[in-house]
Amino acid sequence: MRKNIVAGNWKMNKTLQEGIEFVKELKEVLANDKTNCEVVVCTPFIHLASVSTILEVTNIGVGAENCANQVSGAYTGEVSATMVASTGAKYVILGHSERRAYYGETAEILKEKVELALANDLTPIFCIGEVLEEREANKQNEVVSGQLADSLFSLSAEDFSKVVLAYEPVWAIGTGKTATSDQAQEMHAFIRSIVAEKYGKEIADNTSILYGGSCNPSNAKELFSNPDVDGGLIGGASLKVADFKGVINGFNS
Ligand code: PEP
Repeated sequence: MRKNIVAGNWKMNKTLQEGIEFVKELKEVLANDKTNCEVVVCTPFIHLASVSTILEVTNIGVGAENCANQVSGAYTGEVSATMVASTGAKYVILGHSERRAYYGETAEILKEKVELALANDLTPIFCIGEVLEEREANKQNEVVSGQLADSLFSLSAEDFSKVVLAYEPVWAIGTGKTATSDQAQEMHAFIRSIVAEKYGKEIADNTSILYGGSCNPSNAKELFSNPDVDGGLIGGASLKVADFKGVINGFNS
């Protein structure tokens, strides 16, 4: 079923103690309020076990920001999907543009990561999106459909239906330059049409497609009001409870 989701991505921020403080506060703030979307907090690996324990009896989901493309063994410094799942986390962000750009994550590596995440019952939040030069050359549709095809379209329909997509135009991430509401809707509708071509309308209609890129309390409501925008993947505005709550409120009328 298509769900509205607001997922935070802390990136490389917060000590363990700061992370614990954050989720305790978030738990309290959300306990007093009805939310009209699923809320997920994606954290660095070191926070996962503690945060999962604190959020255990709540509706707030927990996710990692990455996992390895290997099952286990001699891969110093890596964390497997099985290890992530063992913390109680249910989600994992994969294909974030920072991982693609700074850590050489190719379409093939991402395909392996997605398969391992799914094999461990983790929901991948799979990021796709074009860089500025590609947008300026009007190549965004080509780029995004290539990213989908190269890492996800070998999945069975059953497995694909477990994936959440996040459209994150790279030029909007951390820059304060949000895509306009129309740009977001146009791309999300295109993504849904590509998914429909590959897996059929029913699966496409049930796929959650989040927007990411400088989404904040002031623009969330307008972005989320689009028919094909099913929530957001939130970086900067997920680091303070008040800001994150402001984005979540984008789903409250
Ligand atoms: C992100 O990194 O996924 C993101 C959307 O960042 P920001 O909200 O800071 O642009």
